[in-house]
Amino acid sequence: MRSSIAQRKGRFVCARKTYSEEMPELDFSQLGRIAERWVGRTAERSAAGDPLAAAQNVTLRVDRSAERALRKGHPWLFAQGIRDQSHDGRAGDFAVIFDRRRNFLALGLYDPESPIRVRILHHGKPTPVDAAFFARRVQGLAELRAKLFSDDAGTNAYRLINGENEGMPGLVADRYANTLVVKLYTTAWLPHLRHVVRPLSRLTGAQRVVLRWSRGATRALNSLGESELPDELPDELPGELADELADGVLLGGLALDGPVLFWENGLRFECDPCRGQKTGFFLDQRDNRARVEALAGGKDVLNTFAYTGGFSLYAARGGAKSVVSLDASAPALQAAQRNFEHNRAIPGVAGVHHETLRADAFRSLAELAAAGRDFDLVVVDPPSFASRQGEVERALGAYASLTRLALGVLRPGGDLIFASCSARITSDDFFACLHAAARRAGRPLREIERTAHPADHPVGFEQGAYLKCIFAKVP
Ligand code: SAH
Repeated sequence: MRSSIAQRKGRFVCARKTYSEEMPELDFSQLGRIAERWVGRTAERSAAGDPLAAAQNVTLRVDRSAERALRKGHPWLFAQGIRDQSHDGRAGDFAVIFDRRRNFLALGLYDPESPIRVRILHHGKPTPVDAAFFARRVQGLAELRAKLFSDDAGTNAYRLINGENEGMPGLVADRYANTLVVKLYTTAWLPHLRHVVRPLSRLTGAQRVVLRWSRGATRALNSLGESELPDELPDELPGELADELADGVLLGGLALDGPVLFWENGLRFECDPCRGQKTGFFLDQRDNRARVEALAGGKDVLNTFAYTGGFSLYAARGGAKSVVSLDASAPALQAAQRNFEHNRAIPGVAGVHHETLRADAFRSLAELAAAGRDFDLVVVDPPSFASRQGEVERALGAYASLTRLALGVLRPGGDLIFASCSARITSDDFFACLHAAARRAGRPLREIERTAHPADHPVGFEQGAYLKCIFAKVP
């Protein structure tokens, strides 16, 4: 393994030099036009033809509890915390927030469509928020990540910008080799996007930048095509924007003619940054996957909610005897098979018996148990079951069922690895739920470790802590 990483290291260095020295700077001029249209003004009407200058500031005063939260550095101002405001702004306007005594508190991006009415860019003393502001912020984060992922690590896919946790609320940027994926959670970024994308692509030597939307933000974008079309927007705008800014669209650089290939801890993976889940891959599970590799030697492994086989590949390289990748998605499992092919040169991967199983995990676990199939190590990494507060109870119920079902196929003395990616479920509730379910099944968990976020997914505020995972031995 060592030597293969060393070989790859050479390639990284090459790739980086090649692109930063020979790749022309990517052209994002259409983002300027989009910003102008979004702000709803023609270039002539805006001050210096600069949409940023044309964006109006919304001035807000907030109530006591919002004030307290903002003073502590909270990145969100909810609509109900607003006492009064100058006028009804548009998505992407700057919101300048004052306390009850009219002192400056914070500045952020206004979004009239979202209950998170303002996403805070800056707390404390007044400061100009302009292209240089965004460039400085992007540079700080890009440098931080460059240090974290030295070439030696065998990893060229990681989160570059982790949204509100790092002062860029509602914007996530992931890197897959020379492809950048920028994912937006609010249309409020549109007038400012080029000021983020341009420095980011320059600093990383990117070959292309892909745009992704969260579901909530897409709804806001689509609603522009319907009757609530804001008056200021020219008639032809929505259709044009819908194409230019569709989910998965290329913002700049070379068109993609297939999946993107990248390295993670010396393993070769492919992902589809335009249509894949999240931004194409679950980068946040990198460290947990490495922990599974260390546990998998000689074992029969079941990877439920396997997606494109991340945990499966690590288990195989770690010397697992067999690996089953179970997921409901056929394209994900096809990618998992290709990911095994990409790593055929690794003895563990070449030697392992790998099987994919396309099925509902709940039903399939029960069927496997009924058929008497069992495993030494089971990974359970389901999607978020609670996207709203009202779904928390049901999600805990699903975690409990999955614990019982996973234990039903786990041999005595086996390892259970169970993760939750729902920010709405606290880690205390999650771990307590799993322990209770295991006790009820007569197989109490003996914890080896509890883990959380990897270093490229730093947590900057309470709601930013979504990932928790337990590693346990089960009698
Ligand atoms: N462990 C993966 C990420 C899992 S994401 C990794 O390391 O990359 C969650 C996965 O669960 C998705 O691939 C989704 O297709 C799958 N999924 C969602 N509901 C499911 C169900 N009921 N049964 C099986 N798979 C499901």
